[in-house]
Amino acid sequence: MAVSPPLDSEQLDNQVEHKVVQDATCTFCGCVCDDIDLHVEGDKIVDAKRACVLGNSWFLNHEIDHRPSCHIDGKPAEVTQGVERAAQILAQSKYPLIYGLSDTTSESQRVAVSIADWIDGTVDTTTSVCHGPSGMAFQGVGEVTCSLGEVRNRADMVIFWGSNPAESHPRHFTKYSLMPKGMFLPNGRKDRTAVIVDVRKTKSAKAADIFVQIKPRSDFEGLWTLRALAQDIELDAEQVLADTGYPLDKWQDLMDRMKRARFGVIFFGMGLTMTRGKHANSEALLALTRDMNRHTRFVCKPNRGHGNVTGADNVVAWRTGYPFGVNMSRGYPRFNPGEYTASDVLARGEADAAMIIASDPMGNFSQPAREHLKSIPYIAFDPKETPTTRHSAVAFTVATYGINVPGTVYRMDDVPIPLRPAFESPHPSDLELLTNIETRVRELKKQQANCNKHRPSLRPA
Ligand code: SF4
Repeated sequence: MAVSPPLDSEQLDNQVEHKVVQDATCTFCGCVCDDIDLHVEGDKIVDAKRACVLGNSWFLNHEIDHRPSCHIDGKPAEVTQGVERAAQILAQSKYPLIYGLSDTTSESQRVAVSIADWIDGTVDTTTSVCHGPSGMAFQGVGEVTCSLGEVRNRADMVIFWGSNPAESHPRHFTKYSLMPKGMFLPNGRKDRTAVIVDVRKTKSAKAADIFVQIKPRSDFEGLWTLRALAQDIELDAEQVLADTGYPLDKWQDLMDRMKRARFGVIFFGMGLTMTRGKHANSEALLALTRDMNRHTRFVCKPNRGHGNVTGADNVVAWRTGYPFGVNMSRGYPRFNPGEYTASDVLARGEADAAMIIASDPMGNFSQPAREHLKSIPYIAFDPKETPTTRHSAVAFTVATYGINVPGTVYRMDDVPIPLRPAFESPHPSDLELLTNIETRVRELKKQQANCNKHRPSLRPA
């Protein structure tokens, strides 16, 4: 048997350690799959077993950005200097805004909300530009819901409304909603009826048993048609066809199937929440789900996008009582989308400082909002250089959550999932930076309060 010669010292140096991180969590979409086996060589992920095409691209394309961890006014600086400057900007601001938060851990989100509280600021998340209307509807109607585990084991009627999981959440069908064999669905897909409601035939529609193609911008009318049929109210067939673009007898057939189901679920996406009607559409869907529980068990769930946007809603809600668009300038939280949502606050030129965490408003907000953000001092946190970091007063290059940083993220069904990182980053985590900024902001606020105590009051006695 041939024996390979021993490696010389240079070869030993060049040898890269290969390790496998089992059950790692993918944070690319709201499915937050926590069964991924990552094969890691040094600071490169070379394989991501069980990840879908989007997850593969998230893991395999990950590269450490070797820029300095901190820039002040575009110039490299020490992280401690960046923390000091960030704390000064926030503590001196009269109307500070904190925005983003959907692509980081819930631990970081928690500290960010604390900072907003100390500085009497406004805190908003990317929910305001995606499922914000659902957040408003939940406040008004409530949500009949369940975990994805229950869907997997029980749901024999699965409806997707304005959502295209085959492309946006590629493992949704196979892991949770259509294909898996469950405790009460021993034959998997054969035991389920799949329905897609949409304005066009998407890739998901091809996987469905029933495709309900409605007229664009008629979701509200479609949902109220179903609400009426759930209560056996007679409808005018011509009117229904004119309003929804779908015939009454087919709506009736769908309602009959929904009533016969043992456990139904409606997943809804931005095709519902961001078309005409917005929160009124979400309210109609939540109310329909509630109505269906007079006949059988029915639940609904938004199909959330970014990895931890659900965590952002949860954390902001447990800290303030509201999921996004919260203002604390009066010392208590006030919720008013349109007034306290980041794009509106900026477009009206109200904020005089901002802190943007894991988001790129310079890349996707309206022109007036971007112009105003550019004109005020703000702090940006991102693992990569973006248009937002480029214009910031203080830019922190941070470690990537899930790949370099542990913590907690929430799956789209509000179940918290732990992260198992693959390798360390040379950059700090945003949690570490936010914690330091919070400590310094508290010191500065205390100093300000002491100064104000000794200053003669200008108010009349
Ligand atoms: S479905 Fe979503 S969370 Fe799961 S592997 Fe694909 S991108 Fe990642």
